[in-house]
Amino acid sequence: MNTYSRFDISIESGHGPWVVDTEGKEYLDFISGIAVNCLGHAAPEIQKTLAEQSAKVIHISNLFWSQPQIDLANALAEKSGLDKVFFNNSGTEANETALKIARKYGYAKNKGKKTKIICFTDSFHGRSMGALSVTGQEKYREPFRPLIGDVYDAVFNDLDSVKALMDDDVCAVILEAVQGESGILPATQEFMEGIRQLCDEHDALMICDEVQCGMGRSGSLFAYQTYGVTPDICTTAKALGAGFPIGAVIASDRAVEYFVPGDHGCTFGGNPLACACGLTVMRELFENGLLENVNAMSKHLFGKLNDLKEKYPDKINLVRGKGLLVGVQMKEGVKSDVIASAQTHGLLLAGAGNEVIRFLPPLNVTEEELDEAVARFEKALKE
Ligand code: PLP
Repeated sequence: MNTYSRFDISIESGHGPWVVDTEGKEYLDFISGIAVNCLGHAAPEIQKTLAEQSAKVIHISNLFWSQPQIDLANALAEKSGLDKVFFNNSGTEANETALKIARKYGYAKNKGKKTKIICFTDSFHGRSMGALSVTGQEKYREPFRPLIGDVYDAVFNDLDSVKALMDDDVCAVILEAVQGESGILPATQEFMEGIRQLCDEHDALMICDEVQCGMGRSGSLFAYQTYGVTPDICTTAKALGAGFPIGAVIASDRAVEYFVPGDHGCTFGGNPLACACGLTVMRELFENGLLENVNAMSKHLFGKLNDLKEKYPDKINLVRGKGLLVGVQMKEGVKSDVIASAQTHGLLLAGAGNEVIRFLPPLNVTEEELDEAVARFEKALKE
């Protein structure tokens, strides 16, 4: 269907941060399947995991137990500071699940009253009817109304706008610690702490959508950890399977106390193959130095891009983000031309929101690869 405006490139293969198109042209891929391919293309670790697990069992449904699911749930719970995990296949589904958990929580606390959900301007949480309802961008929502009710938009990074909407009828506040799709905009420390406090005061659940900023991309497993704030629910997907589809909702015992058999389900969710991929990613992050690499490479990339900002003040406004989730905000009107020109120089970059170009390299990217990407970006800027 005509749902995506695609670049005129057809990709045949990939290796590490590189992809090769059907004409044989190589590109440095700093889109990474939109923040998914954390280990790069054709990662040996994922190839091995897929081969070994698929030779044992791929899918069994949630009517049975499997060790990869148990191990991944334990690892996510332990490293997130939360307790319980539900698996599904995508970020949208994870958010949909989180909203249902919140509504069930409100139903148990004050049936029919505690149903309000607060979300934020310029947020992005997915395109199903529930996830779309809490996506604070009218251009996505408008044609699909009526959406789910009792949803209110506050202004991102404006705590007063949340206070004005907050009361005991709120069951959840959903936010991205770093807004991704709308231009790599990190929440302020005060905002994250303030949301936590308001949720505590009104017995509402704080939901952090970590679909884009999570799984190490921000420099910690989850971006909320860089603020020292723990939500009640965290949703993740994208990089969790390094390219194999998997999503997860991680929640505190308190949040899911009332979520019981019959409330939710997912046929494919948490199948052994997907969970084995997730476990491989967790192992790379925590046992094989991937998180350390994100932090070291982040410094390097920010340094290089800020140098370009000094050199091209007529083209670049600012560089912002966290870890290897980096946005370069361009002067008005140049973003699309620079992205197109970068492609001719063999560099793939994605746009985000107004005038922002996203740099999303694989998390195991090297200094040399970053230097090469920045050199190609500079050629595009000059052009
Ligand atoms: N939440 C955030 C923050 C996202 O960036 C995205 C996708 O870009 C989603 C949710 C939706 O995830 P998915 O496309 O896996 O359904």
